[in-house]
Amino acid sequence: MAPTSQFLDRPRVLVVGGGYVGLYVALRLQKKIANAGGIVTVVDPLPYMTYQPFLPEVAAGTIEARHAVVPHRKHLRQTELIQGSVTSIDHKSRTAVVAPADGGEHFELPYFDVVVAAGSITRTFPIKGLAENGIGMKTIEEAVAVRNQVLDRIEAASIETDPAMRQRALTFVVVGGGFAGIETITELEDMARTAAKQNPRLNVAELRFVLVEAMGRIMPEVTQPQSEWVIEHLRSRNIEVLLNTSLASAVDNHMSLINMPDKTVAQEFDADTLIWTAGVQANPMVRSTDFPIDPRGRVQVGADLRITGEFGAIQNAWAAGDVAAVPDLTGGGVAGFCVPNAQHALRQAKRLASNLWASRFDKPLTDYKHKNLGAVAGFGEWKGVANIMGVGLKGWPAWLAHRGYHGLAMPTFERKWRVISDWFISMFTGRDTTALLDLDRPRAAFRAAAGPAPKPAAKSAAKSADAPADASAPAKEEVPVGAK
Ligand SMILES: Cc1cc2nc3c(=O)[nH]c(=O)nc-3n(C[C@H](O)[C@H](O)[C@H](O)COP(=O)(O)OP(=O)(O)OC[C@H]3O[C@@H](n4cnc5c(N)ncnc54)[C@H](O)[C@@H]3O)c2cc1C
Repeated sequence: MAPTSQFLDRPRVLVVGGGYVGLYVALRLQKKIANAGGIVTVVDPLPYMTYQPFLPEVAAGTIEARHAVVPHRKHLRQTELIQGSVTSIDHKSRTAVVAPADGGEHFELPYFDVVVAAGSITRTFPIKGLAENGIGMKTIEEAVAVRNQVLDRIEAASIETDPAMRQRALTFVVVGGGFAGIETITELEDMARTAAKQNPRLNVAELRFVLVEAMGRIMPEVTQPQSEWVIEHLRSRNIEVLLNTSLASAVDNHMSLINMPDKTVAQEFDADTLIWTAGVQANPMVRSTDFPIDPRGRVQVGADLRITGEFGAIQNAWAAGDVAAVPDLTGGGVAGFCVPNAQHALRQAKRLASNLWASRFDKPLTDYKHKNLGAVAGFGEWKGVANIMGVGLKGWPAWLAHRGYHGLAMPTFERKWRVISDWFISMFTGRDTTALLDLDRPRAAFRAAAGPAPKPAAKSAAKSADAPADASAPAKEEVPVGAK
């Protein structure tokens, strides 16, 4: 199947991925390229850009899930949008292969320029039980599912009489002590405390939050004293912080933790909820291209954001963001490269768009150079930590800085207002602790209603073993978590 499109014959700037980089590149170029007779095409399996820094707040219910994403159709009006995944790129023939999101037949898409902006995926390790029982915090669907899971477990525990099962339901484990992990565990703890206080059958002290970090410190983005302050802060909220500790197994939701580096047994316990936030890796789709890839799986680019191999820059090929190894000309970064964060992704996108446009007129390109401004993190209402250009903040000033920064950084006015309205409303109404259950089996109630009427209890008890199942029992549907 090939898409029927009025744009097919026009020279295309193909943007692979509509996240931070893809959205900003398209916003900057769509009009210019269209006026020049070309077309910008964004291919992404999702119809929106996800503002990932808001995922912990979506999980904790201070931001509505839909408000933390930027819909492509609404904001990229002059861009051709294709909902699918690029599965391979052959730059020699200037062709990409696209797999439609609905599972349809793959098709080829010719282009003139390509911008590789496919971001990163959660980095995991081969730990038994992790794939079956863990969940990440990288997509809006995961944030929604985590929220529902935490609230559901609190409800389930409140009517559980077996103490071991009750404790298991109320134990929440987050692996990874970076920004994402710390924001996730603190936001969830804040929400869980509110939910537990609303439930007279529970005691807040029964909640158990465990942070597992393999290194000897957390939050490398802030200074050592700030990192130590964060640990103290977490412990003051009864969050267990286990440094130099790693998850060895999670089979059947039984957590086996080991000490690092000697790998002796640290702790064993059961937990219904396991959230994995231990880093990211470049999107592996780039391995199915003819572009140079560095040992960490990233596309190699020069400081001007052109993809660059051993023979120099490759014409009409660009990359930025988490998927690319962008040299950090400020002398900061890790091993000389920019760290994967939104601060860089956004600025690289703008530089990339300007350079791509300049290349059309053989104008000189400008190198990307940005000195890290620092970091801001929210830990639940009125709590946070920040390091802004070397100035450290803690508590409510840091939390205000976090909200101020991200409120402004959220792309497009329309989305900014939605997020700021959510914050404003929740200041008066309090945190929303509503769980939306059964999102993974939305047809169950209808199937129960539309199926055969249930038999009277006495008769059905006497039924033979091979009689059809009771239609009132919701049927489990094979729908992915978070699907609506
Ligand atoms: C929980 C969390 C909190 C964070 N907090 C912060 C923060 O406070 N500050 C900060 O600076 N950074 C933060 N980050 C990091 C930041 O969000 C990323 O660095 C940034 O999103 C990278 O932008 P990107 O465009 O490279 O990738 P992304 O924004 O991830 O976009 C990649 C896009 O590519 C699409 N895609 C994937 N595969 C394909 C394919 N095969 N074909 C086509 N499209 C594809 C994806 O659907 C996605 O839309 C956080 C990240 C997380 C997960």
